[in-house]
Amino acid sequence: MPLRTRLLIIKLAIVLAPLALALAAMHFLLPGCARRREAALLGGNYTSQDIGRFRIVEPRGSCLAAAIAADMEAFTAALYAEYGRALSLHPLADRITIRLFATKEDFEHFAGARIRQDVSHAEGYYDPVSWSIAIALLSDEEPRTTLFHEATHLLMARSAPLGHPDWSPWLSEGMAVFFENSTVGGREPRLGGADRSSAAHVLALARQGRHVPLRRLVGGDDALFHSEAASLCYAESGLLVAYLLTGAGRPAREAFLRYVDFERQPGPTPPGTLESYLRTPFDTLERDWLAFLQRIAP
Ligand SMILES: [Zn+2]
Repeated sequence: MPLRTRLLIIKLAIVLAPLALALAAMHFLLPGCARRREAALLGGNYTSQDIGRFRIVEPRGSCLAAAIAADMEAFTAALYAEYGRALSLHPLADRITIRLFATKEDFEHFAGARIRQDVSHAEGYYDPVSWSIAIALLSDEEPRTTLFHEATHLLMARSAPLGHPDWSPWLSEGMAVFFENSTVGGREPRLGGADRSSAAHVLALARQGRHVPLRRLVGGDDALFHSEAASLCYAESGLLVAYLLTGAGRPAREAFLRYVDFERQPGPTPPGTLESYLRTPFDTLERDWLAFLQRIAP
C-alpha cells in the first residue's frame, strides 16, 4: 500500500475514532440516562417488567402487569385482525411502554415533565415519540377503558405516511371512544361498541335541541373539545363512529373508512368532506344517526 494511502487511512481513523466513541457512548449512556431520569421522577415506588409486546410500569406491590399485558395483547390482536388494513396500522414492531400511576398526582407529575399538553383533566395520555401510554389508576374507573382509548390514539398516530396525522378532533376522539368500549376478557373478544347509556343521554338532549348538532361536531376544532360541551362532544363522536362502523350498513362503513384514509393524508380536511364521502347531507345523517341511537338506547 502506498505511503500516501496509509497516511490517509490514519488521518481518517483519527477523525472517525472520537465520533465512533461518542456514538457508542450515546448508545450505552442515553438509555441509562432516560432510565435514571424516569427513576428520579417516579421515586422508588414503581417497578417495570417486559411482558410480550409491552413494558408495564406499575406501582411497587401492585400485581396488575400480567393481566393488563394479556388484555392489551388481546385488544391489539383483535384491532389488527379487524381493522389493521382498513386503518393502515403499522406492524407492531417496537415494545409499547404502559405506565400505570397509583395517583392522579403521580400521573400529572410524570406527564407534566415530559409532554406539553395539559393533563389536569385527562385520565391518560399517549406519546408517539416515546411510543408509550400512561394512565392514573382511579378507584372508580376501569383501567382498560382508558388504556384502550389511549392505545387507539397511539396506533392511529403512527399510521400516517408522513409524521403525525392532523386528525379532526371528532374523528380522533370518536375512534378512541368507540374502541375503548371493547371487551376482550371472554372467549369471544368484542372490538369497539356504543355506550348505550350515552345514547339515551344524547337522545334526551336532542329532543330538547340541547345536543351538539353533527354539523357543528364534525366541523369542531380543539377548542370545542376543551369547552364546557367537551364530554358531550366525546360521547357524540364515539356514537357517530359506532353508527358509521356498525349501524349504517356496509356501503356507509366502507365510505367512512375511505374518509378516515383521506384524513390520514397530510393537511387539514376541508369542510363538507364527510358529507361528500358518505354522499349524505348532514340533515339526513343527523336524522339517521338519531334513529340509530333510538335503536340502541336502553
Ligand atoms: Zn382521547
